[in-house]
Amino acid sequence: PPISSPSHHHGWDGNGAAAGIIPPTPAPKRLDGKVAMVTGGARGIGEAIVRLFVKHGARVVIADIDSDAGDALAASLGAHQVSCVRCDVAVEADVARAVDRAVARHGRLDVLVNNAGVLGRQTRAAKSILSFDAGEFDRVLRVNALGAALGMKHAALAMAPRRTGSIVSVASVAGVLGGLGPHAYTASKHAIVGLTKNAACELGAHGVRVNCVSPFGVATPMLINAWRQGHVADDDDDDIDVAVPSEEEVEKMEEVVRGFATLKGPTLRPRDVAEAVLFLASDESRYISGHNLVVDGGVTTSRNLIGL
Ligand code: NAD
Repeated sequence: PPISSPSHHHGWDGNGAAAGIIPPTPAPKRLDGKVAMVTGGARGIGEAIVRLFVKHGARVVIADIDSDAGDALAASLGAHQVSCVRCDVAVEADVARAVDRAVARHGRLDVLVNNAGVLGRQTRAAKSILSFDAGEFDRVLRVNALGAALGMKHAALAMAPRRTGSIVSVASVAGVLGGLGPHAYTASKHAIVGLTKNAACELGAHGVRVNCVSPFGVATPMLINAWRQGHVADDDDDDIDVAVPSEEEVEKMEEVVRGFATLKGPTLRPRDVAEAVLFLASDESRYISGHNLVVDGGVTTSRNLIGL
């Protein structure tokens, strides 16, 4: 019989790799040679972003208030490729210094990930607009919204002269819909989506792309501590923050999130968010700017959404 095109016989990829005829090419390093800064990179989703970026060849600077955890992560991944600078994203001098350190160490900045964020108090009183607390609103907005804006500013100052760069911020499904988080948090995440669009409009002229990702619930210390807080008395929630939750707690939290999820089957993990950030950071997304990539298994498109 005539030998027909392999695309008809050897699997969907059309080059025979699925049938084992052509050896699979090693996964390309999608950030090879790039320099990235990840705020809040010491744990949770930020840590997963750092790990994936390193795997894809990037040199990474972690900018986190928890510099002990950041230093430990950097050391475990290789000090030549990863370092940590102590930085509170709500303090402009800290953000400026962190970007300066990245540029001084590696010669430039290609990628900024604005990932640092706080959820704020999760008690019943803290969640009601009837007992809205101005100080709490200010605190959450300073970290989540101002922090992202300051990151955009100082990254853009480093990127624009080179006429290239990608800024990716971590917003949330609470930046798309109401009823998914406390008021201050929801406002701050909507602010990130707005900032992303506005900065993309301006920075496009300088070759710099600006995007954000919006995850659904991920069982990180943030969510687990919030869950704990929601289950104690209102005046007894001050020292609940635990940096490393037990495996059991992570599994329990994942089960809760799966219960609310639209997409059944996979469990949303930090790595899934990191994959979306990687795409927006890499040149594969070179014509995508001003976009909010939801990583939510369809939750924000579902009319059956149940508030968390
Ligand atoms: P996390 O609390 O586990 O980790 C946050 C990290 O940010 C920590 O390392 C912390 O030290 C650091 N950080 C906090 N405040 C900072 C500041 N002022 N300056 C610098 N670093 C600071 O949280 P996470 O769940 O990994 O969240 C990461 C991002 O993802 C946040 O922006 C969060 O709002 C967003 N997000 C989380 C979820 C979720 O379900 N976990 C869902 C949607 C969006």
